[in-house]
Amino acid sequence: MERAYDPFELPRAQMVAEQLVRRAITDERVLAAMRKVPRHLFVEEALRGRAYGDHPLPIGEEQTISQPYIVALMTQLLELQGREKVLEIGTGSGYQTAVLAELARRVCSIERLPRLAERARGLLEQLGCVNVWVRVGSGTLGWPDEAPFDRILVTAGGPGVPPPLFQQLAESGRMVLPIGDAENQRLTVVEKAGGEMRMREAGECKFVKLVGKYAWEA
Ligand code: SAH
Repeated sequence: MERAYDPFELPRAQMVAEQLVRRAITDERVLAAMRKVPRHLFVEEALRGRAYGDHPLPIGEEQTISQPYIVALMTQLLELQGREKVLEIGTGSGYQTAVLAELARRVCSIERLPRLAERARGLLEQLGCVNVWVRVGSGTLGWPDEAPFDRILVTAGGPGVPPPLFQQLAESGRMVLPIGDAENQRLTVVEKAGGEMRMREAGECKFVKLVGKYAWEA
């Protein structure tokens, strides 16, 4: 990602110090990525002044860019070392995608709404994220041609683990996703060990709906 003069550098550093470090985000690579990725560019101009606030923001089409802390927490739970191939479901603004692109070898991201996918793709390209592919599609089916994935991140809330995503997870791989009802979910970490599923919960969260064959109806 290219770097030029950025008037948002200070608010971004403050966001990392006050919202992430204080809430036990300890992975230095995650903190560095979030100090670097220009979150304000992923929201419309009128909202830029609020881009580093401790909350989600609307991105159009009734969707939202997640709160910085939630992006950091999910990314930290993925435990990325830098060599992984990652599948993301729910590109949205592309902000989380850009954070993943800093920390993994390749990111394949699926968004069901074409307008959001196009905007995110353009912005990621402009920012020089060359290791990202964005596709329009139905994310609960995964991306079979690119499987297996070392990590899978779902950034919309569904009722359970979509079977195709577990199938496309590599052995010893890890998936992070919100599971629950339409109102509230639990951030869930799923691991594949000897082909078996292991699950643990990592806190409450609130996401927009995951829509698709293995999730909620549109
Ligand atoms: N990570 C995003 C947050 C996006 S909100 C960001 O940082 O901006 C969740 C997104 O998931 C929405 O854009 C929504 O359209 C998308 N979505 C919901 N169900 C989906 C599905 N089955 N496949 C792909 N995208 C989906």
